[in-house]
Amino acid sequence: MRVLVVEDERRLAQLVARGLREAGHAVDICHTGSDGLLAAAAGGYDSVVLDLMLPGLDGISVCQALRRHGSTVPVLMLTARGEVPDRVAGLDAGADDYLPKPFSFDELLARLRALHRRTADADAAELRAGDLRLDPARRQVFRVGTEVALSAREFDILYLLMARAGQCVTRYEILDEVWDGETDLRSNVIDVYIANLRGKVDKPFGRHAITTLRGAGYRLEPDGG
Ligand code: CA
Repeated sequence: MRVLVVEDERRLAQLVARGLREAGHAVDICHTGSDGLLAAAAGGYDSVVLDLMLPGLDGISVCQALRRHGSTVPVLMLTARGEVPDRVAGLDAGADDYLPKPFSFDELLARLRALHRRTADADAAELRAGDLRLDPARRQVFRVGTEVALSAREFDILYLLMARAGQCVTRYEILDEVWDGETDLRSNVIDVYIANLRGKVDKPFGRHAITTLRGAGYRLEPDGG
C-alpha cells in the first residue's frame, strides 16, 4: 500500500519510512501539517500516519480538514503523550486509530494492516478480467476458481494491471507504484516479475492475459486473454 507519513521529527519520520519500505510499502514523507494536508487531500494514499504535535497546523486540525474535504483515507494518529484527552480529541477529529509514542514498529505495522483491512473490506471492489479475479481486501487471486499464490509485489503489479485492464500501464508507473520509484533497480527487474506473473496466472491456464507493449509497458486483456 501507499502510506503518507506526516511527522516533524525527521529522524523518526525516516525510521518509520524505512521500516514501511522494507515491509514492501510505498512511502511519502511530509514534515509539516500543511504539507501533509495538501498531500493527503490530493489522494492516492491507502493510509496516513499523522503525528499529533506538529508545528503550525497540528494533527487534529489536519485530520479535521481532511474529513471536511470528504477524504475517507484511514488515519493513524501518533500521540506523544497517549493521555486520554489527546486520544479522544484525535478520534473526535476523525482519526481511525491512535498509537502513543514511543511505539514498536511491529505494532505500527499491525495497526496499519488492521486499518487497511477494515477500509478495504468496506469499499474495495473485487477486480475481474474474464475468469481472472482479484480480491484486494484479502489479497487473493483466483483463476477459473483456483487460488493463485503470488508474492506481494507480483500481487501489486497484477492489481495495477487489472485496475486498468485494456490500457497500457507503463514501466515507470509500475516502478513508481510498486517499488516506490527506486531508481537503482536494474531495468530488467520488471521483466522478471512479469515473466513470473505470466508463469502463475497465464501459462498454467493456457491464457495470454498479459501483453507486452514494446517500449511502452504492459496491458492486461480485459477478457482475461
Ligand atoms: Ca511532533
